Amino acid sequence: MAAQRMDGRACAAEVEANLLQRVSELKTRGTEPHLAVIIVGDDAASHVYVNSKVKTCARLGILSTHIALPSSTDEATLRQHIVELNEQEDVHGILVQSPLPSHMNEEALTDMIAPHKDVDGFHPENLGRLVQGRTDGMLPCTPSGVMRMLRWANIDLSGKRAVVLGRSRIVGMPAALLLAARGADATVTVAHSRTREIERVCREADVLVAAVGRPDMVKPSWVKPGAVVVDVGINRVDDATRERGWRLAGDVDPSVAEVASWLSPVPGGVGPMTIAMLMENTVRAAESIRDL
Ligand code: NAP
Repeated sequence: MAAQRMDGRACAAEVEANLLQRVSELKTRGTEPHLAVIIVGDDAASHVYVNSKVKTCARLGILSTHIALPSSTDEATLRQHIVELNEQEDVHGILVQSPLPSHMNEEALTDMIAPHKDVDGFHPENLGRLVQGRTDGMLPCTPSGVMRMLRWANIDLSGKRAVVLGRSRIVGMPAALLLAARGADATVTVAHSRTREIERVCREADVLVAAVGRPDMVKPSWVKPGAVVVDVGINRVDDATRERGWRLAGDVDPSVAEVASWLSPVPGGVGPMTIAMLMENTVRAAESIRDL
């Protein structure tokens, strides 16, 4: 069996087509959706992510403000930027690019973002709403992108066994909550570094979501034949055959395609969906201000 490709680029293009319409409706009513992105330091991968977010904004007609601060910036300065953006009425979404330099308390700083402008969906109020089963607010972008791709592929999750590998605040835990939420209705197991017999646990899954940050960890023997596999991992691995000396690898060995019914590729799977969902959160934030 060769797995069908869960094509994040195609799914993201559908999300973008819908957003283009919504942005144009907002503009006819006098609102220009506006995302502010703050990046601190010179982590190369983070700059690539921020640039592609800014580019996607431009493509969709969303105004973006890109604030780049040196790694020597102190926390008080960053706090001041967040306070000002919270107060600025024409800014609908605020994103502080992770990771922040080690001298900063990332969680405390992102907690300062006003919940209705928290387009990353990491604020305790937004995560708390998700725990309460209220999925109409700002949802974390990567997990909601996973759910949108599953819907795009017409995967019926109801009553299925889902295993989420990884329990992070930004991917694993919210993905588990979304899979178990009413309407999705999967039966969810969360596996992590202390899980015993992890291969056996994964093999029980009808739907396996891998978010561990370990290149090619999930092997074909970990996957039940016919299972749906979503690979969230983005890992740089050395590759002397590439001019740049590295390539991107997911958390799932590509040979899993021989066993699974669906597999999301890396790159071109969850990555484009994460940006698409960030754009959707920004547009939703602008719409909800209009509706007040
Ligand atoms: P993270 O915060 O480092 O969390 C990794 C999770 O995996 C932890 O819960 C950890 O368990 C678990 N884990 C690590 N090694 C394990 C092992 N050998 N066996 C079982 N569990 C193990 O990472 P993250 O932020 O969730 O990101 C995960 C991956 O997704 C990374 O590759 C990241 O680059 C990628 N990512 C992609 C996107 C995208 O847009 N596609 C967005 C965000 C992240 P413990 O909790 O026990 O330590």
